[in-house]
Amino acid sequence: MITKIDSEKCIGCGICARTCPLDTIRVNENGKAFIAYPEDCMTCYLCEMNCPNGAIYVHPFKELLPRSLPNCY
Ligand code: SF4
Ligand code: SF4
Repeated sequence: MITKIDSEKCIGCGICARTCPLDTIRVNENGKAFIAYPEDCMTCYLCEMNCPNGAIYVHPFKELLPRSLPNCY
């Protein structure tokens, strides 16, 4: 599940909001991404992988996932 968007790192590009297949993330009027519907997150990691500034954190962290999972990102 998406756990955090670091507003200090966020540059407001909106990539995460456009990438998320479930409309979980929005960008506010101040140009900062925020988690609008956390319960909708399916932990696909697309937002974290596509954020150009490393501002998004999805749990469980990829480093902790079993190596047997396909590396599709
Ligand atoms: S992709 Fe990253 S930098 Fe761009 S709006 Fe989302 S959190 Fe901010
Ligand atoms: S992990 Fe996937 S479903 Fe969850 S917020 Fe990011 S892109 Fe959306």
